Amino acid sequence: MIVEKPRTPLRAVEIPTPKPGANEILIRISACAVCRTDLHVVDGELPSPKLPLVPGHEIVGTVVERGKNAHRYKIGARVGVPWLGWTCGKCKFCLADRENLCDRALFTGYTRDGGYAEFTVADERFCFPIPENYSDAEAAPLLCAGLIGFRSYAKTGNAKRLGIYGFGAAAHIISQVAKFQKREVYAFTRRGDSDAQQFAKSLGAVWAGDSESLPPKKLEAAIIFAPVGDLVPLALKAVDKGGTVVCGGIHMSDIPSFSYDLLWEERSVCSVANLTRRDGEDFFKIASRVPIKTTVEVFPLAQANEVLDKLRHGKIHGAAVLVPMMASK
Ligand SMILES: [Zn+2]
Ligand SMILES: [Zn+2]
Repeated sequence: MIVEKPRTPLRAVEIPTPKPGANEILIRISACAVCRTDLHVVDGELPSPKLPLVPGHEIVGTVVERGKNAHRYKIGARVGVPWLGWTCGKCKFCLADRENLCDRALFTGYTRDGGYAEFTVADERFCFPIPENYSDAEAAPLLCAGLIGFRSYAKTGNAKRLGIYGFGAAAHIISQVAKFQKREVYAFTRRGDSDAQQFAKSLGAVWAGDSESLPPKKLEAAIIFAPVGDLVPLALKAVDKGGTVVCGGIHMSDIPSFSYDLLWEERSVCSVANLTRRDGEDFFKIASRVPIKTTVEVFPLAQANEVLDKLRHGKIHGAAVLVPMMASK
């Protein structure tokens, strides 16, 4: 399923199976989760995507061929491919252990082809082994909702009372980690979305309510996963002195102006960009211990357009996952 031009539906096409380069592996895809970032790419909200493009950056599959320098995984091994597809290793950010900010980074399903397909190639140095206790579809959302959600979560330090705005794929994973670490999750959803509020409580949230409402106690930190700038002042209002508001998405509508009082008393706002390989290693270590259970809705790859539309309208609980074999059989 390819993007030919942003703001037009994806198209199902036959393309040649890619050949792995020296450090790359060829992967037969068994599942690819759908991320809000895919929607931003398809909707033309992110600059300069590769075109035409195979989107998708939460890929699980098996290695079927290896490039000449690729020895990390055996043929038949199960691997995950995340958003961070390649970094230069030489720029000041790479050298400072901040490869998520690499000047020349390539991103899966954005500036290189991704997982809405039957096969993909990936640089093996950026792939992760998948823990055995997950099925392919259950593991797929860990690759972005999990990884970048976890980087956002890490930015909240050891905040005990944690607000989460936008209860989608990332929130449903991160609230399980938070509960495991004995933190309290306060879930904020679209107004009147009682299904999402119920879902949040079923995953251990101690409180769930509308984004415009204030929690019963001041929060120590908040993460905003919804791409809605209006939430920034609302979240600042909900956090206590010294609290942090983390914006976890790649794109957000404009943040409205707000009174300095909301930022005063050493509150802060920050964003999270991409991931490092270390984030991935840390996350997979804790994922097996929790253990994180993902709630997934599985669809055939051919339905990618319909699934993106469901995500756009908040109709997915947990994560949507595309499975290619269902399309071709
Ligand atoms: Zn770099
Ligand atoms: Zn993503």
